[in-house]
Amino acid sequence: MDNFYSLRLPVLFFKLSDQYKQYLDPKELEEIDDGSGGDDNWIVCSICQNKLTKNKEKIEINGSHHHQCTNPHGLSFHIRCFQKVQHIKNMGNPSANFSWFSGYKWTIVICHQCHVHLGWKFQSDSHHFYGLINDRLIEENDNR
Ligand SMILES: [Zn+2]
Repeated sequence: MDNFYSLRLPVLFFKLSDQYKQYLDPKELEEIDDGSGGDDNWIVCSICQNKLTKNKEKIEINGSHHHQCTNPHGLSFHIRCFQKVQHIKNMGNPSANFSWFSGYKWTIVICHQCHVHLGWKFQSDSHHFYGLINDRLIEENDNR
């Protein structure tokens, strides 16, 4: 079954093996303005500190920024929703199988720099957002 939810823990939480790198798609890269205010903290990859998104990109889906989601294999994820995420790569084609958000297809997203599994992109006909795994994120302090 071509279902990335079925990937086992060692793949989900450690670097992806070479056989999956064929799915990397560089044209999916987005960029987020660094801005000049300094009042908008970066949220970075917990493994390699790659700058992924910002506080201003936090959104609520179905009334909440935070979601606790469990896949068909019983793995549970605390994910947080963001409008825009950069320096990531999508893997494979969007799938509607077991989607946690009605009307949205999902695609695995990994860190562009260290290839750790960060979460999923969710896409409907008219909208997309990202659900990133809370344990994979670090919010930088604003003490620069
Ligand atoms: Zn990383």
